Amino acid sequence: MIFNRANATQKVRPARVELEDGKAYSPEFEDIYATRSGAYGQACHVFLSEGDIPNRWADKESFTILENGFGLGTNFLATLKAWRNDPHRSKRLNYVSLECFPVTDQEIQSLSALEVSEEAKELAKQWPPCLPGYHTLSFDEGRVRLILVFGDSMELAKKLSLSYDALFLDGFSPDKNWRMWNSELLRDLSRYAKEGATVTTWCTKGDVRRALTDAGFALEKKKGFGKKRERLFGVMKAKRTKHILRPINEVIVVGAGLAGANLAYSLTLQGINVRVVDEAAVPGAAASALPWGILHPHFTRDDSPLSKLSREGFFMTRSRLRQLEVQTGECLFKELGCLQMAHKDTIYEDWLKAVADNKPFKIPENYGLLLNRQEASQIVGLELKRGGWYFPMAGMARAGAFCRALIAASAVPYRGNTTVRSIDKKGEKWQLIGEFGEVIDEADNVVVCAATASSDLLKEPHLGLDLLPGRITLLRDTDFGDLKCPVSGEGYIAHMEDGYCGVGATYELPRTGPWTEQKAHLTNLEKLDTLLVDHLPVVVTGAYCGVRAAGSGRVPVVGASVDESRWLSVWNASEHIPQDSKCWENKGLWVLAGLGSRGLSMSVLCAEMLTSMMTGAPLPADPALIKTLAPQRYLKRQWFNGKVR
Ligand SMILES: Cc1cc2nc3c(=O)[nH]c(=O)nc-3n(C[C@H](O)[C@H](O)[C@H](O)COP(=O)(O)OP(=O)(O)OC[C@H]3O[C@@H](n4cnc5c(N)ncnc54)[C@H](O)[C@@H]3O)c2cc1C
Repeated sequence: MIFNRANATQKVRPARVELEDGKAYSPEFEDIYATRSGAYGQACHVFLSEGDIPNRWADKESFTILENGFGLGTNFLATLKAWRNDPHRSKRLNYVSLECFPVTDQEIQSLSALEVSEEAKELAKQWPPCLPGYHTLSFDEGRVRLILVFGDSMELAKKLSLSYDALFLDGFSPDKNWRMWNSELLRDLSRYAKEGATVTTWCTKGDVRRALTDAGFALEKKKGFGKKRERLFGVMKAKRTKHILRPINEVIVVGAGLAGANLAYSLTLQGINVRVVDEAAVPGAAASALPWGILHPHFTRDDSPLSKLSREGFFMTRSRLRQLEVQTGECLFKELGCLQMAHKDTIYEDWLKAVADNKPFKIPENYGLLLNRQEASQIVGLELKRGGWYFPMAGMARAGAFCRALIAASAVPYRGNTTVRSIDKKGEKWQLIGEFGEVIDEADNVVVCAATASSDLLKEPHLGLDLLPGRITLLRDTDFGDLKCPVSGEGYIAHMEDGYCGVGATYELPRTGPWTEQKAHLTNLEKLDTLLVDHLPVVVTGAYCGVRAAGSGRVPVVGASVDESRWLSVWNASEHIPQDSKCWENKGLWVLAGLGSRGLSMSVLCAEMLTSMMTGAPLPADPALIKTLAPQRYLKRQWFNGKVR
């Protein structure tokens, strides 16, 4: 199939790969991926050595490559191998690759070049389902990050957030797949090049050369590889005026729950010295003390930002848990699957219709399956009231142990039993002030991850955090012996540790007055009745309590802290709606809070996003989500509603 300019946006779907004379061939594009013998040679020659990559990453802090067209991943695998074998490699390697038609994990493993078959096995193990959006895979304890972005390159290239050192252009030939080489796309991809960044490709077409030259690359034709006579190499000459972030060397994180512990881990991976302060003796002691919590994505037919965050975040948390399990030898995650049960018949019907209409997109079976009541009951092991989405990769995670493993693995100093009363600016530094007015610590950059205490510490009354106390009722495990995986609907039921089954959880809104223990248990048992057709009489054996902090719209709050009075003075004085600006940010003061009921699925992605905002590392998510998470969004809404001036 040959694309022309009239083709609409391409939707993500699995690649069709056939074997022809031992070569992986795409019947859709009528082109070969590359020969098993030639692909590795081409990757090493055209993209690595002739792209001068090892010389340029030598002894650097980090090196970033952007690629259009992941295919079978040979360029990435060859880069990973070269990086591992190079004693002078950069400390970190970021590899961002855009792909609209992903192959499968089996194809990666069986068709990738022989020289990188070991690396291909590692990649196949982490290979994500064919879902649009961002997938971050990590290698070498997080020092190598592969950000796969599944979608139409032409759309994606307009909204990336990164600066690269090298651009690899390696799609099917322009005659077969014009969209991968058109000048608009090449211009968009060139915008993210650092000054001195290189572009390499085997393609020497006139249109491609002109587009890259117009975008600022100084090109030269060089001797080609194999049967190709020539290839292109170019260096970005255009000056870059984009705001360069001041390098960050040290950060203090206040709070060591899922938010703070994940952030400390993410920042440490970027080579930053982190210190953690918490009023509790050990990490993961407040809401994150949860012994076992459900880690699962959510299905919505509109693919809302919240749904995107929970889906992409789910994969990131799962992968980080797995990585920590290898590092610590501890069990942190049980992949039991999870059923998201429809809590009304109409919702189930709506889901059925969404599947029939492929809304918001076709859901791959290895990610989620919509099951009817009988099928769902069979998988769960108990008779359910309705069917729902079964997510086989979901399961139960040990939240508290996760926090402690993160702090231990990042080897950051943890200062427990230390309550921060306020955070004050002194010169260029932010000082943490303790209970007796003493200075606990100070740094240029402080991140508040103190859940319910965050508004006060940041002096931001309009951060929009709701405090939601909640309780899980603990029942005897043996009364639900047949339960094979957690079920979540209006409430949830799941096996926890030490012989308990958890049913929950309450949302004890402060305006509904203080809840008695009895009211909380009754509410949870009513939730249980909305899930199961029948069950044995239950014995309440205890409860787990915690206080969630939820951001407005149940979306976390992540980003630079806002000086509300400065924000208000700008907004009140302005005749037009002011553009987003850094002028009201508290420079060096940041926040990650409001994870609500989804701390497990959101904390890693939010921590990685904030790390990118602070350091300029490639953003592992759609940049539009930065606005969704912005700390000033609630203040803005209140201002528009005339509730604050
Ligand atoms: C009953 C219940 C059930 C839940 N079930 C699930 C589930 O199944 N799946 C899921 O994903 N999520 C679940 N959650 C939500 C999850 O627990 C939270 O989203 C998550 O723990 C929040 O993490 P956090 O780091 O933001 O907050 P916290 O874990 O509360 O961490 C905040 C940290 O800041 C510290 N701190 C606060 N103030 C100060 C100060 N002034 N000075 C120093 N330190 C300070 C605290 O000591 C604490 O360690 C549940 C929550 C509850 C209450």
